[in-house]
Amino acid sequence: MKQESPTSARPAAFLDRDGTIIVEKNFLGDPAGIELLPRAAEAIKLLNARGYRVISVTNQSGVARGYYGEEAVQSVNARLVELLQEQGAIIDEIFYCPHHPQADLPEYRKECDGRKPNVGMATRAMAKYAIEIEGSLMIGDRAADIQFGKNLGVPTVLVLTGYGRAERERIEDEHLTPPDHIAPDLFAAVEWALDRRS
Ligand SMILES: [Mg+2]
Ligand SMILES: [Zn+2]
Repeated sequence: MKQESPTSARPAAFLDRDGTIIVEKNFLGDPAGIELLPRAAEAIKLLNARGYRVISVTNQSGVARGYYGEEAVQSVNARLVELLQEQGAIIDEIFYCPHHPQADLPEYRKECDGRKPNVGMATRAMAKYAIEIEGSLMIGDRAADIQFGKNLGVPTVLVLTGYGRAERERIEDEHLTPPDHIAPDLFAAVEWALDRRS
């Protein structure tokens, strides 16, 4: 594998948050509700060791629906980064989109280019960090995550944690964009991605 200096562009692993890194809680607005999925920290450590930027991208329409505020999303994200750090796993940043096209709250009601499957959150990440799209990938538990990766032009892995099992069926039934790979969890998804690059 070629060695790169820390300042040069690196591939990114774009990771969904809920149902991929942490247990899906159906609108999580309280840091106390964070539960890391098994082997999620190990998966991120593996990405860190292999020189990937780790960027989480999460749709948080709970804000648009009035379930919780953006401060709640930010405290969940900050706590998650901290919990992972305690285990030696580094996430560069978690990007979120609080919008929804049919939101209850008018200030959050819009077709946002940041809402997955649109790639606005990746665009923001690439404006901030030196990211090489070649070698990057997207891992998530929903059809929108897979379509996001497809829109971005990177390989995609559907994990079977969170909504993954139901989404695998829905993707088939509705002929949605299929993932490049299906993995039982984030760690297995990362292993697959690293194997095919080496
Ligand atoms: Mg998810
Ligand atoms: Zn948005």
